[in-house]
Amino acid sequence: MRRKIVAGNWKMNGSKDLVEKLVGYIRAEVESLDNGVEVVIIPPAIYVGDVVVQAAGALAVGVQNVSRLQSGAYTGEISSGMVADFGCKYALVGHSERRQLFGESDADVAEKVARLLADDLNAIVCVGETLDEREAGNAEAVVARQVEDGLARVAGDQWGRVVVAYEPVWAIGTGKTATAEDAQSMHASIRKVLAGIGAPSEDVSVLYGGSVKADNAAALFAEPDIDGGLIGGASLVAEDFVSICRAV
Ligand code: PGA
Repeated sequence: MRRKIVAGNWKMNGSKDLVEKLVGYIRAEVESLDNGVEVVIIPPAIYVGDVVVQAAGALAVGVQNVSRLQSGAYTGEISSGMVADFGCKYALVGHSERRQLFGESDADVAEKVARLLADDLNAIVCVGETLDEREAGNAEAVVARQVEDGLARVAGDQWGRVVVAYEPVWAIGTGKTATAEDAQSMHASIRKVLAGIGAPSEDVSVLYGGSVKADNAAALFAEPDIDGGLIGGASLVAEDFVSICRAV
């Protein structure tokens, strides 16, 4: 049985004040949900300690990025071991903003995933095509390559800690969502690619991300291969985020 997950990616937004108000509210609301969803808060790394305290075990916590290096003289980097030490369960890897703005490659993604899994963390690996790639008819091929190369080093029971997030780049922060049918078709294709690289594809959660809002979440989550969402903008609005968690 694959997990149902809703993860809120705060990106470079937030404050100590927001942590206290937003996480406290979400925790209280999520505690009364009985739909089996795991809710994950992914704040900027500097707030992770505060979020872990506020989440009080009722919400999982993650980081938006992790170093591909283990430890040592790497100024500014944060290792997977430190992420685990702080009580985080998840890390995003290969978000399109990391790929596009910070030059993260599929090889970097593969190394980071390997580090996270070695430290018993869960990796949420983000994949997705740009508008040009979609219009050129290459969306499935691009996503297949990202899945194959980014997950090239996963083996055996490590698959239980891998989550894929399909986030078409043209839908992120734009208010344009993939239709439920288009998203479902890509999710089914991702599952085929996973099977092709030896993953237990029916057991790997595949989340959708890209302008998921309170009013489109239910239609997306109703699709058989969409196991939840990775939420950006709407994760910063308490009521909207909780509605999305309820829509699972
Ligand atoms: P969005 O971002 O919900 O604001 O489109 C999603 C993401 O980047 O993970």
